[in-house]
Amino acid sequence: MKSDKKIKIGTLCGAIFVIISYLVFRTDLPKIPNIFLYNLVIIISLQALGFYRGLFFLGGSVFLTVLASLAMNFNYIWNVPVFLTTFLIVKDRIKKLEYFSHIIEGRVEEIRENTNLLANEYKRHQREAFFLEKKEQRYRSLKDVTSILSSTLSLDRVTELILDNALEVVGRTESLLLFLVDTKKQELNLAASRIKENSDKVKAKKGDLLDEWVFKQRQRLLVEDIKKDFRFSEEKIGGYPRPFRSVIACPLMEEKKVVGIVRLEHSSPHNYKLEDLRLLDILCDLGAASLQNARLYKQTLDLAITDGLTGLYLRRYFLDRLREELARSLRGDLACSFVMIDIDDFKNYNDKYGHTAGDIVLRTISKVLTRFAQSGIVGRYGGEEFSILLPETPKKKARRIADDIRSAVREEAIELRRVETHVTVSIGVSSFPEDSKVQDDLIQKADERLYMAKRQGKDRVAAS
Ligand code: GH3
Ligand code: MG
Ligand code: MG
Repeated sequence: MKSDKKIKIGTLCGAIFVIISYLVFRTDLPKIPNIFLYNLVIIISLQALGFYRGLFFLGGSVFLTVLASLAMNFNYIWNVPVFLTTFLIVKDRIKKLEYFSHIIEGRVEEIRENTNLLANEYKRHQREAFFLEKKEQRYRSLKDVTSILSSTLSLDRVTELILDNALEVVGRTESLLLFLVDTKKQELNLAASRIKENSDKVKAKKGDLLDEWVFKQRQRLLVEDIKKDFRFSEEKIGGYPRPFRSVIACPLMEEKKVVGIVRLEHSSPHNYKLEDLRLLDILCDLGAASLQNARLYKQTLDLAITDGLTGLYLRRYFLDRLREELARSLRGDLACSFVMIDIDDFKNYNDKYGHTAGDIVLRTISKVLTRFAQSGIVGRYGGEEFSILLPETPKKKARRIADDIRSAVREEAIELRRVETHVTVSIGVSSFPEDSKVQDDLIQKADERLYMAKRQGKDRVAAS
């Protein structure tokens, strides 16, 4: 207990004692106030100065009282036993107080210990709250991802968004890669990436051993330190393409098939925890659903703009693209060509071999056109008429392509019930800007030339 508290308690006790003494002795003894005063001095000195100094004061008081008594006919000599009694009572009180003060000190110690424990607990809770807040933030951004991803229908955009959001949700990442599976070849192709600036470019565009592992196992992967993971030792992997040590990767699953892989890397070991992998997994589930949506949307769009029989663009879409391309050519001062193709004597072919055989011819010719106009856009312009838009292609080159198409069609054997048949085509070519800068005129010119080719004996190209 602190000394000022001792003084307060001692003073209080002394004061009570003085009042009681006063009440008891008041009537009988005439010099009582002096005794009270002396007693008060003893009590306060005992409390304030401690036992020995208090004793000194007591001695002083007794000595003075004896002196006063000697001088005044022993009038005050009875004060001495009163002093001694006071001293003994107060000493006893102090002992008791000290005993209580020990108990209180023990209690204070106990409370202090509890306070420390609670303070530690509080710190721990604070830390937990911080991590929970972080976790909540991550899950909240995942929720945002859901709405962002579900409102995106472009395939390219979805892959970019998956990577952006993986970085946002997981954090602490230097390289992010997204591979999509080529279902026909059953191999991985890099579709999007975010690589640390001073890092090398992605060399393994088809993925490495780690990606293969995720693809084949159809499982998520956490590598805490690649240098200590025997599954992916440097020899096995054939040299690490980037200076990574930690990796997390998750498959993008559609039903039970892996359609892609998202992979995150960091150059420090132990960068990722299971919780990061869990978050990436959730993101990949959302991403895979969005990829599927985008793919279905693209398929629907394709169905709306392509012809069911040949897979070529329908006339309306083709004309839109032609308009766009002409505007681009005009802006960039570029050449551009338009090609019209019509099958020769197709009516006869249909009559001879039947309509189904005619459809096979249409499909075969479509494939030839697509093969020869890889940089162009091929459309089914009408029943058995086709059109090709050749961007950045001047007439000379367009004419050569048209002639290659003509001879390829002529040589293409179309087998019908073990009978080899052949068809020919006539082609009209017009070019921007030399024939016209106006779309309708260009189409009309190509059409006129096509019929000129027909008139001149078919199976030929007319470009002027
Ligand atoms: P030309 O050499 O002058 O072009 O003679 P052609 O007989 O080819 O005449 P035209 O170009 O007018 O041919 C139209 C024919 O194309 C009519 C129809 O039998 C055939 N045709 C049009 N669309 C289709 C189709 O979707 N399938 C099939 N099998 N035949 C079609
Ligand atoms: Mg025709
Ligand atoms: Mg025809």
